[in-house]
Amino acid sequence: MTALTGTLVGPGVDFRLDEQLADLQRRAHEFADRELVPNAARWDREASFPRSAIDAAAREGFLRMTIPTEYGGLAASNVANCILLEEINRGCASTGVTVSVHNSLFSSPVAKHGTPEQKAEYLPKMATGEWLGAYCLSEAGAGSDAAALRCAARRDGDDWILDGAKLWITSGSVADCFVVFARTNEHRTRGISAFLVEKGYAGCSVGKKEVKLGLRGSPTTEILLENCRVPNKNMLGEEGNGFKIALDTLDGGRLGIAAQSLGIMRACLEAATKFACEHDAVGSQQRFQWKIADIATALDAARLLTWRAAHLRDIGENCTMQSAMAKSFASRMCNQAARDAVEICGAAGIGGGADVERLMRDARITEIYEGATDIQRLVVARGVMA
Ligand SMILES: Cc1cc2nc3c(=O)[nH]c(=O)nc-3n(C[C@H](O)[C@H](O)[C@H](O)COP(=O)(O)OP(=O)(O)OC[C@H]3O[C@@H](n4cnc5c(N)ncnc54)[C@H](O)[C@@H]3O)c2cc1C
Repeated sequence: MTALTGTLVGPGVDFRLDEQLADLQRRAHEFADRELVPNAARWDREASFPRSAIDAAAREGFLRMTIPTEYGGLAASNVANCILLEEINRGCASTGVTVSVHNSLFSSPVAKHGTPEQKAEYLPKMATGEWLGAYCLSEAGAGSDAAALRCAARRDGDDWILDGAKLWITSGSVADCFVVFARTNEHRTRGISAFLVEKGYAGCSVGKKEVKLGLRGSPTTEILLENCRVPNKNMLGEEGNGFKIALDTLDGGRLGIAAQSLGIMRACLEAATKFACEHDAVGSQQRFQWKIADIATALDAARLLTWRAAHLRDIGENCTMQSAMAKSFASRMCNQAARDAVEICGAAGIGGGADVERLMRDARITEIYEGATDIQRLVVARGVMA
């Protein structure tokens, strides 16, 4: 073996944001301070959808992130999307998940797999926020095991007839169009196809609304499909390709939830630091310092994992394992940060409308949706062992 020669001075890894990304971060931060921080507690208390914030986000261009420029979008990178979502979720996680689902779970698969006609029909309305998008994969008995879904689609002339009930659909009652996954034959995975279903189609209706622990401003509902007629031109991707589309979409969506976890962690860190400063003028109490140091360190580590996975997706590399690592680590650290923030604040952290109490409830959900933590660990283990 020959020894290394010459110099080893290369460009290395650059952790700084370029000017455009720094500008996006600043704009999103100011947006959160202006539109979200003053209202998040009320939306949570009243379980009311943050419509004014979503309209304001649309005016900022935040609902056009994943849409190609020819359809009115920004063709933003996954890294840009993560930066935006961290800032929004720092202000309000209910607004954050609405924006994430719209961009990552609706517009993104339509942009990637849609026909030119589908893109021209739906993406411009999604870009302006005139319409909101949602994603219908889960069913009773088909959550972690999404391939067990039973919602059926049968061919009838130029149409498909959909029958089934989708559960836990984010933005179910406020979305205008859904990506719906349904079974077109009995093959467990290759028997699943994706459809674009408008809320106005006969046979498509909103079922019960969930009363949730957290993210209470984000309406989560059933979507009922009863003899729902969907034109064949609204099939997204090829027949039998739906499961692949669902999984690929979730690779991107998971990055959104990892970024959501970063945003909630940031809010926890800010609230805990503020409390510690107000209750310990000299900042010498280790009981505060240790926890604050742990949250800050975990936040940085989780952000590095998230941005790395987003960058891999941007350069077209497979990021399934890396995005599962980012999501599971960021969401677990987010829950730890929320517990630590509550502990720092003591009784003041669990009553009187304390921000950290809401953050702890919101944080809990990051470990469940878009693949529960144990499922992410299976994905990582499979990647490592392969
Ligand atoms: C607020 C909220 C919003 C949501 N929004 C949407 C949406 O917009 N669209 C949509 O389609 N779905 C949505 N979901 C559904 C979500 O994706 C599912 O809840 C999630 O996939 C978990 O499925 P489950 O709830 O059926 O739990 P289960 O699959 O029953 O899992 C329960 C527990 O068992 C563990 N587990 C399950 N299988 C295994 C295994 N093989 N190995 C090890 N552990 C396992 C899991 O880790 C989990 O902790 C949402 C859920 C919530 C809570």
